[in-house]
Amino acid sequence: MTGHGFVFNEKPIRIERGSGPYLYDDEGTEYLDFGASYAVTPTGHCHPEVVGAIQRQTERLLYVQGSFPLDVRDDLHDALAASAPGDLTNVWLCNSGTEANEAAIKFARSATGRSKIVATKRGFHGRTLGALAATWKQKYKEPFEPLASGFEFVPYGDTEALDAAVDEETAAVLLEPIQGEGGINPSPEGYLEAARETTADNGAALVLDEIQTGLGRTGTMWATERADVVPDILTTAKGLASGLPIGATLCREWIADGAGDHGSTFSGGPVVCAGATATLDVIEDEQLADRAADVGGYLTEELRAAVGEDVRSIRGRGLMIGIEVKRGANRLLPTLALEHGVLALPAGRSVLRLLPPLIVDHDHADRVVNALEEVL
Ligand SMILES: *Cc1c(COP(=O)(O)O)cnc(C)c1O
Repeated sequence: MTGHGFVFNEKPIRIERGSGPYLYDDEGTEYLDFGASYAVTPTGHCHPEVVGAIQRQTERLLYVQGSFPLDVRDDLHDALAASAPGDLTNVWLCNSGTEANEAAIKFARSATGRSKIVATKRGFHGRTLGALAATWKQKYKEPFEPLASGFEFVPYGDTEALDAAVDEETAAVLLEPIQGEGGINPSPEGYLEAARETTADNGAALVLDEIQTGLGRTGTMWATERADVVPDILTTAKGLASGLPIGATLCREWIADGAGDHGSTFSGGPVVCAGATATLDVIEDEQLADRAADVGGYLTEELRAAVGEDVRSIRGRGLMIGIEVKRGANRLLPTLALEHGVLALPAGRSVLRLLPPLIVDHDHADRVVNALEEVL
């Protein structure tokens, strides 16, 4: 464990600043950021309203412990509760996606008095020992075992397997409405509804991880709205504060009532709360969910028309798009970046993933389609 940056593989580009959908390196080269660093900048880089809200808050108060009520935190609670489907009006704030899921697992166990968690194959829920136990990929888990126990996996999208796994010992079913890291796998029609039904029948909590799908990305504020399913717990993080570290666990009353004792020093700190409320305001004011539906639909159509037989499938919803290629996706990314100035992401070995800021337009989409056409 020597040297710096030993955990992340470093990329050859040294980024210095960002603006809207663009990033700039230390030589001034411009990159169109269609990865948005894993969906962390829905409002684009350094949106002036978000930056302004953060700046004003930094001059007023950087931190005070969470047991003091704060207007800036109340505003975020209200904005999150107002944006959420159904009666998910109780909000627990933390600092990352994995912590939001960690809290979801703890709350569901505490509220039900049960321990079993049913998760899905190819699912991704984070890297701390509890959330990691709900994550599928062996490579992420094996070196760190033993993880938290009580986790079972079912094939994603298989209603029968889910029905068979959920019983009176189940505390929660935890899944993504569209799997992100697992390869951009949308849930089949009726799956979320079935998960809602079987959890309700068995007195278990339905936990939807919307850390990648949420905040307008798939064309609705939350992906679950499309299925009209209200989970018992919904988790969000990634782009919630446009780049400041934050996570949130939204709960129904019965979960909040039995949530047990949980806490974190930086939960609901004033600066991130200001950034998150401003982010939610921008998403609403600029109608970014509608925009994601429009630009995402256009981009998907153009891609389908442009790419040839090197592509196995193009899937996703809104501005959460996976392009499954026949040969390694990773090998395409450097060419895309260095020769075409377009940043994208992998999802597993064979899927190229696009998660751009939700402010992109048809011209940006055209540029990416042209670049991909050449690279493929
Ligand atoms: C990124 C992600 C997480 C983990 O979030 P971190 O902030 O990296 O801990 C969990 N679930 C999903 C669906 C994600 O995309």
